Amino acid sequence: MLIGLPKETKDHENRVGMTPSNVKGLTRRGHRVLVQSGAGEGSFLSDDEYRLAGATIVPRAEDAWAAQLVVKVKEPTPAEYGYLHRDMMLFTYLHLASDRPLVEALLSSGVTAVAYETVQTADGKLPLLAPMSEVAGRMATQIGATYLQKTQGGRGVLMGGVPGVAAANVAILGAGIVGTNAARVAAGCGAQVTVLDVSHDRLKYLDDIYRGQLQTRFSDEYNIEEAVYDADLVIGAVLIPGGRTPWLVTTDMLPKMRRGSVIVDVAVDQGGCIETSRPTTHSNPTYEIDGVVHYCVANMPSAVPRTSTFALSIQTAIYVVQLADEGVNAVRKNPALKFGMNTHRGAVTYPAIAQEFDMQY
Ligand code: NAD
Repeated sequence: MLIGLPKETKDHENRVGMTPSNVKGLTRRGHRVLVQSGAGEGSFLSDDEYRLAGATIVPRAEDAWAAQLVVKVKEPTPAEYGYLHRDMMLFTYLHLASDRPLVEALLSSGVTAVAYETVQTADGKLPLLAPMSEVAGRMATQIGATYLQKTQGGRGVLMGGVPGVAAANVAILGAGIVGTNAARVAAGCGAQVTVLDVSHDRLKYLDDIYRGQLQTRFSDEYNIEEAVYDADLVIGAVLIPGGRTPWLVTTDMLPKMRRGSVIVDVAVDQGGCIETSRPTTHSNPTYEIDGVVHYCVANMPSAVPRTSTFALSIQTAIYVVQLADEGVNAVRKNPALKFGMNTHRGAVTYPAIAQEFDMQY
C-alpha cells in the first residue's frame, strides 16, 4: 500500500505521525511510504533518517496526501480539507465532537477516518490516548516545580526541600494515568504527595506500589479541602469518560490556598476540575487568581514533541501495519479499529458523533 506522512500544520505542533523505525517496519513488509520533506524536523528526525528507513521523500504536502493511507497526529486543518478523498484512509487524532466543519469535510470527501482517541480494546481501554496522558502527567509535576520558583511567580519552594527544611506538599486530584504519572515524578523528587480519587481500586494500586511514600485519600469535599489548602502544588487529573469534569476546587476555595501555590489543571481539555481554570497556550501558559498561579495548557505534550512522537507512534504502529496490510478490511477484522472508525464513504460510523450532530448513524 502507498502510505503518506505529511508534515503537521497546526500552530506549535511539532510531533509527527511515524518515526523512521515505524517506516522501516512498513517498507520491510513491501509497503511504500511517502514522507513530506521536513515532516520530522520538529521532533529532530531528519529526511535522511526516513530515507535510510526506506521512505521516499516528497517535496510537497499534496504528494504525501495522495497516498491510500495517511498517518498524522492532529486533525486536518481547513487548508488540508481539499486533500481528503474517497479512496483514502486517514489515521490520526480527530476529536470530532467539537468540530462540525471537519465532520462535514470528512463526510463530503467520503474518506475513511479512523480516530486515535476512539480506538478501544476489549477491556474498555483507549490505548492511543494513554501515551499522551503519561507524557502530560509526568510533565505536570516538572511544570509545577518550575512555577513554584519565586522567579516564575511561585511560592519559592523546592520540591524535595533540603535536610532540615520541609519538602513541597503536592495534592493530585485523580489517580488515573495522568495522576499516577504525576505522582511518580513528585514522589521521585522527594515531595510529600497526596493523591485523591473516588476509585478505591486506583487508590489501592498506588498504596500497594508506593508503600508509604505517598498518601492516598478518598476524594470527597472534606478531604479535597484539607489537601488543597495544605498544598504548594495542586494537579488536576480527573476524567469522567464522556462527561464534563466536575469542579473539585471552587472559586471560593482559592483565597484559603497558600499564596504563591501553583495549580496545573491537566484536565482543562475536558473543562478542567478547578472552577477558575481556562485553557491557556504554550506561548502564554499561566495566569494568577487570588495569588495562586494557574497553568492550564490544553496540549501539554506538544512541548516535548520528540518524546511524544515516540510515545504515540509505538502505540499506533500495530494498527498502522494492519491498515496497510489489509486496508478497510482491517477495520472489519479488528474490533478496536472498528471503534476507531468515525466516518466511512460519506457516513458517520461512530454513534456519539452522529448523536452530537443529529446525523444518521
Ligand atoms: P483516567 O481515566 O486514566 O483517570 C481519571 C481518574 O479520575 C480516574 O481514576 C477516576 O476514578 C478519577 N475521578 C473521577 N471522578 C473523580 C473525582 N470526583 N475525584 C477524584 N478523582 C476522580 O484519565 P487520564 O488519562 O488520567 O486523563 C485525565 C485528564 O487529563 C483528562 O481530562 C484528559 O483529557 C486530560 N489530558 C490532558 C492533557 C493536556 O495536554 N492538558 C494531556 C493528556 C490528558
